[in-house]
Amino acid sequence: MNPNPSRPRLRLRLTGAAEAAVRAGHPWVYSDKVRDPSRDGIQGELAVVYDRNDRFLALGLYDPGSPLAIRILHKGAPVSLDAPWWAARLDAALQRRLPVASPQTTGYRILNGESDGFPGLVLDRYGDCLVLKAYTPSWLGSLGGSSPATAAQSMAPSMAPPLPGLNLVELLQARLQPARIVLRLSRNIAASAESLGLADGQNLLGTDTSHSVVFHEDGIAFDSDVVRGQKTGFFLDQRGNRREVGRMASGASILNVFSFSGGFSVHAARGGAREVTDLDISPHALATARRNMALNIRHPAVARARHHQVHADAFPWLEKAPRGAWDIVILDPPSFAKREQERLGAIEAYQRLARLGAPCVAPGGCLLAASCSAHVSTDEFLSATRHALRASGLEWTEERIAGHEPDHPADFPEARYLKALYVRRTR
Ligand code: SAH
Repeated sequence: MNPNPSRPRLRLRLTGAAEAAVRAGHPWVYSDKVRDPSRDGIQGELAVVYDRNDRFLALGLYDPGSPLAIRILHKGAPVSLDAPWWAARLDAALQRRLPVASPQTTGYRILNGESDGFPGLVLDRYGDCLVLKAYTPSWLGSLGGSSPATAAQSMAPSMAPPLPGLNLVELLQARLQPARIVLRLSRNIAASAESLGLADGQNLLGTDTSHSVVFHEDGIAFDSDVVRGQKTGFFLDQRGNRREVGRMASGASILNVFSFSGGFSVHAARGGAREVTDLDISPHALATARRNMALNIRHPAVARARHHQVHADAFPWLEKAPRGAWDIVILDPPSFAKREQERLGAIEAYQRLARLGAPCVAPGGCLLAASCSAHVSTDEFLSATRHALRASGLEWTEERIAGHEPDHPADFPEARYLKALYVRRTR
């Protein structure tokens, strides 16, 4: 199991509370909870966690440079990591996507990090292009394919060896036969990756280097910028809400605030909306949204819908926006809290946004308010939004609260970032 006998496997223990949390299934251990490491750990290496009675507890991905020192890979009985073990993990994740994947929906998440047993790793599919996004350096040595990291690793003593039995590109090729695999790097690991010769947006497989990849969602074509776009190029996580807006859209006028590449707008147009308005601060996002609308012009409903765009900062624009003018108003802003310290400011921002957006809804219309801030809990978001709705002087009934889609499983509290509230204006 240890490919480098000159460096014995890192062994460590945890504080009592952290041990109990891991036993209960929590996948994160912070650095101040680590006890008795057998030696200094190396970035990205595998650590064996023992309990207070010196029995095997778990295997984790170790990162001494991060406050999140260990991401648990496996707990329970000792295992030997080999190629079939990794393949079984991937297969289990693929099994979970069966209800989502179809010829009409070729864009979805295949691996959602910890909740799919691949901590700190995301894999999204856009047609025959896969996008692998790493949030921890532990995976960088196990990419395989044309990655220079695997070769660099054997020469860089400060880097961990590949994870036993894992060659990600080979595994993905064997299971999914992609035409292309793109590597994306979270900002926090870009420097470690660069030292291994890896670059954000590079291909690990395939020769097509175009930014634009077209995929389908419920038969609607979308363009994802897999090389530079936010996340892996598209907000796959909002599929359920887009679908819901499509269902409600017949004959409606829609204001899509923070429209990005127009996902909600195209679903609304295909669902029979009379008129859709995108609002975004980024001209690039608005251009992509126009392209996405054009990609779907073969749908008669899309061809019929009037499409407007507003290039503006949402907050001051909404202050002056016409009241009661839209049947559906969508507020799906970027994360307002990237860090815990920003939590209170974010809650205030959600409240302000709902206060500004609510009066734009026509009587009988619907407001969809969403949050993707992991540091703001569902309760905090809901109570901020409800507070703003009460203060609006209008009357509302709550219709629905939505969370994660099946391809974005979230099996521990910190992973549940997405929440959405649907309310209808009754007067
Ligand atoms: N609703 C989108 C995802 C939103 S991403 C979807 O379903 O795909 C957030 C978007 O908000 C980005 O496109 C970003 O350019 C935009 N944005 C960020 N700050 C903004 C602001 N103050 N006003 C308007 N748009 C903003």
